[in-house]
Amino acid sequence: MTVHFLPLIPAPERVEPQPGTFAPPPDRGVVWAGPPAPAGMDRAVAGALGAALRPAAAARPGDLWFRLAPADAGTAAEGYALTTGPDGAVATAASAAGLWNAAQTLRQLLPSSPAVAIRDAPRFGWRGLLLDCCRHFLDVGFVERTVDLLAQHKLNRLHWHLTEDQGWRLELRRHPELVEIGAWRDDGHGGRYGGYYTQDDVRRVIAYAAARGVEVVPEIELPGHCVAALAARPELSCTGGPHAVETRWGIFEDVYCAGNDATFTFLEDVLDEVLELFPSHWVHIGGDEVPKDRWRDCPKCQQRMRDEGLRDEDELQSWFVRRIVAFLHARGRRAIGWDEILEGGLAPGAIVQSWRGLDGAVAAVRAGHEAIVSPTSHAYLDYPSDKIDLRTAYGFEPVPAGLTDAERRLVIGGECNMWTERAPQDVVWQRIFPRALAIAERLWSRGADDYEGFRARVVAHRPRLRAQGVEFGEEP
Ligand SMILES: [Zn+2]
Repeated sequence: MTVHFLPLIPAPERVEPQPGTFAPPPDRGVVWAGPPAPAGMDRAVAGALGAALRPAAAARPGDLWFRLAPADAGTAAEGYALTTGPDGAVATAASAAGLWNAAQTLRQLLPSSPAVAIRDAPRFGWRGLLLDCCRHFLDVGFVERTVDLLAQHKLNRLHWHLTEDQGWRLELRRHPELVEIGAWRDDGHGGRYGGYYTQDDVRRVIAYAAARGVEVVPEIELPGHCVAALAARPELSCTGGPHAVETRWGIFEDVYCAGNDATFTFLEDVLDEVLELFPSHWVHIGGDEVPKDRWRDCPKCQQRMRDEGLRDEDELQSWFVRRIVAFLHARGRRAIGWDEILEGGLAPGAIVQSWRGLDGAVAAVRAGHEAIVSPTSHAYLDYPSDKIDLRTAYGFEPVPAGLTDAERRLVIGGECNMWTERAPQDVVWQRIFPRALAIAERLWSRGADDYEGFRARVVAHRPRLRAQGVEFGEEP
């Protein structure tokens, strides 16, 4: 292990001391000789390291090199090797994502540190943050700065929660009514509260994230959590409305009518445009917290159950979700749903995001499905720190006990979830930090279990985040 203290978060797999000190000059350059970077990654790396981008022919002593290396044990997937010293630094990786991760380690070694040789690779491929932009609207610049913060800690997924009872935040050209009506709610003071992302905003965030090794995964909620959409399209509910964009928090009875074919025409049209906009291989379709009251009283929904031979409303929900999952899979994308999609039968190929503990993940992987874990017990960053403190978050073990090796491999990673019922934009980072650092380390570092050592690194890391405007919501 290390003979000197390096406040790196997440902790790298292997660090070996080297002779001398790494302290590159202020006019340092970044030489990108790596695999072709996603648009702008070389510039983003140079920016993050306070360096100028330089062609190899113009390289100077002290420069920071990023090189393509053949895949081997140390550089597979998103892994990398990094050597620093008096002459600068050399990062090697088999992928652009690996070089991005090397750059983030390097950033934490600036402005000076003892020279080291590092080999590093993530424990899980899926390392995410859910950002709820519906309960409170988060402006596009804030979303980008948040992407920057998560990418610095080697989180690689932005799970972008875009539709809810309290607001529809995604502009769709074929359905302008969704934001014209659905993006705004009564603010209780005679005005309206809300906002939405234009398609240009969305493309901007996706490009910004791609340059930082982050994939943006959109979440379009169905069949529930959709009152804002129903306010714009009341004919798609069981009662026909009218509906108003919700101003309260909670779970609401009005959901999409499962018996109305127009519901599916609408949702498939929405998803087609979402797929045009988001290159992500994955699309999250929600599926959580769907009350069945309206379906029980709705002649169309009851007729659907008879037509499809469904025994109860749980099976109707499963039928609804299966239909949407099949639609996405036919277009070459993978669907993710919250663990409620297990109820009434799991759709073939769907990935389960387990949030009510880890039982959903266990059920999913035993059925041969992939699972992402973000249990309320450790990963809900909207909870106050007296409920989930930094130590609790650091105690997060993503793989449930009692699984076979094959089942363990189906746990592809986890997320921390930032819901915003009680968090307007100006307090969101205080909820995320420092606890997201704990989750980031648990998802990246194998064998991370020394809380006191982690806590000391968080304290040392704090000035770096403070310099970016991040104040911790909890004393580490
Ligand atoms: Zn209905």
